[in-house]
Amino acid sequence: QDHAAALLRRLTGAEAALVVNNNAAAVLLALAALAEGREVVVSRGELIEIGDGFRIPDVLERSGARLVEVGTTNRTRAADYEHAIGPETAVLLRVHQSNFRVVGFTELPAVSELAAVAQRHGLPLVDDLGSGVLVEVADEPSVRASLEAGADLVCFSGDKLLGGPQAGIVVGRAELVERLRRHPLQRALRADKLTLAALEGTLGLYLDPDRALREVPVLRMLVEPADEVRRRAERLAELVDGAVE
Ligand SMILES: *Cc1c(COP(=O)(O)O)cnc(C)c1O
Repeated sequence: QDHAAALLRRLTGAEAALVVNNNAAAVLLALAALAEGREVVVSRGELIEIGDGFRIPDVLERSGARLVEVGTTNRTRAADYEHAIGPETAVLLRVHQSNFRVVGFTELPAVSELAAVAQRHGLPLVDDLGSGVLVEVADEPSVRASLEAGADLVCFSGDKLLGGPQAGIVVGRAELVERLRRHPLQRALRADKLTLAALEGTLGLYLDPDRALREVPVLRMLVEPADEVRRRAERLAELVDGAVE
């Protein structure tokens, strides 16, 4: 954990980091440690299904926290969060719309706007980024940008755009990460040493972003020119007597 955390601090600018088994576990642990028995405020536009039937509202319920929905499917403003805050509020949660887009008449507050609301009320802002890229990839929000915009904790996967082993990573304020580390669930959700070793290897590549783009397979494939993909597809098609569509 110490080796991975040192790299994560350097790559994201965070004060502290903790690695667990996957990002669903990271979100579960963050909510259990910071909001058990209390309220978590989330936009209705971010109550998403991650995949394979796993849904953020269900993860939230299992953490022992109570969900408070604000806004609408297409539009949520910072003021909606502010109005929902009461004596029972423990966390403002933001969830990246990783696998879908709502287009048209839409609005979601920026991380910095939500961070300002959270700060005014002395509450932590937890940002579940899902993919959590460390380099620039299209319009994906980066971990560092979320922290710089004022998120107190950022959760993301080790095995999506990061391209490492299955893992969940939490980075952010040292005092909050420490509360997660001391929570009883942490022991049950922690990453094992082979995962940590593999993650350390992947993170090491990111110390040189150009090297990461060349050597992390998912990044290499994402930046591969379409012509090269086409040539490969045509070669394969020829071998199996197929056609490229
Ligand atoms: C994928 C995803 C998760 C779950 O991550 P796993 O590492 O697959 O458990 C949680 N939140 C969001 C927004 C995601 O995209």
